[in-house]
Amino acid sequence: MQLRCFDPNCATTLDLHAPALECPKCGELLEVEVAPNDVDAASLKALWTARRTSRDPRDISGVWRYREFLPAYPAEEIVTLGEGNTPLVRGLRTAEYAGLRDLQFKHLGWNPTGCFKDLGMTAGMTEAKHVGARIVACASTGNTAASLAAYAARAGVAGRVYLPQGQVSLNKLAQALDFGAEVVEVEGSFDDALNTLLAKTNEGIYFLNSINPFRIEGQKTTMFELMDQLNWQAPDYLVVPGGNLGNSAAFAKAFDELLRYGFLTRAPRIVVVQAAGANPFAQMWQSGAATLTPVAEPETIATAIRIGNPRSWKKSLKGVKATGGQILDVTDEEIAEAKAVIGRDGIGCEPASAATLAGLHKLRASGAIDRDASVVAILTGHVLKDTNFIIRTHQKESNAHS
Ligand SMILES: *Cc1c(COP(=O)(O)O)cnc(C)c1O
Repeated sequence: MQLRCFDPNCATTLDLHAPALECPKCGELLEVEVAPNDVDAASLKALWTARRTSRDPRDISGVWRYREFLPAYPAEEIVTLGEGNTPLVRGLRTAEYAGLRDLQFKHLGWNPTGCFKDLGMTAGMTEAKHVGARIVACASTGNTAASLAAYAARAGVAGRVYLPQGQVSLNKLAQALDFGAEVVEVEGSFDDALNTLLAKTNEGIYFLNSINPFRIEGQKTTMFELMDQLNWQAPDYLVVPGGNLGNSAAFAKAFDELLRYGFLTRAPRIVVVQAAGANPFAQMWQSGAATLTPVAEPETIATAIRIGNPRSWKKSLKGVKATGGQILDVTDEEIAEAKAVIGRDGIGCEPASAATLAGLHKLRASGAIDRDASVVAILTGHVLKDTNFIIRTHQKESNAHS
């Protein structure tokens, strides 16, 4: 395995553990080039299923269980909190709301810190520890901070998080504090926080933002676990909210590998849903533009996807195109309404996650998705990630009724 520049025209390669976040030649993002030898898909599928009954911490982890497709580390170096192993929950009222017969949710909010970022963080933190990092840091809209803080604590490494001042849910901030991270508040948006962090290249900090290719590797395994749960039969659609677009990029990479190595014959269409106030990717798709124009002042109640300049858009776009998917946006009102329906299904999620159901509702209303299509929607964060949002919504409702 090695690192490779994501731009196929450049294709510069680096040592797997080289301390670089972007291509030293052209500045494009890097990715881990996976090239396992002698892959026999049928026997690996059986091995992965068998590992579910194992007591090895690597097998208990829903990420490291699939380690044949991840960078290799000695077992004792792996930093894990038993992440992954999230269920598929069938939609009831939500399916009715969307007008779909076959809707399931994969709830990544049921991870150790309540969000899918743990799946990337176990891989990123393991790499950080492997290369001897003393300080790890990220910019975050909250969830990456909570996750980094937890995994840094496990690894015995100092964690530092850069947050946009006043724009982070208190629940997420509380997690970061509880896990002992140093919190740096930056004036401006998430994009400003990320730029502040990225300027600190010579302070011996190991960067754990989603542009870190190891995080993408960990998040990639979400699709390995999902396909395992679906007995390797792909649904017609896979719907995911898009912020910085690391997660959809990771899913794209997963399907590329699963097809290439014969685990699947067909991938689901990847549908990325953004919030209307932070929608540069959806705008680009609708206008047919060749490059992404950032949104200067992103604004949405779904703070986890309040990002104006998503870094992984090229990786994500490649997956949307390769699978025949699409990109759309939904308003804050649509997100809030969909979130309430997910709650009434007994599932619950944070606002950003509800963009999936809102997007499905919109696609069904326009006839873009068939009623009989099989759909898996990715819920990204736990219902308790933004309690203030819920309380405010219900106070408004009860005021309206009194
Ligand atoms: C990080 C996050 C997202 C956005 O994921 P990207 O990889 O940045 O596109 C969506 N929902 C929640 C809850 C998140 O924490």
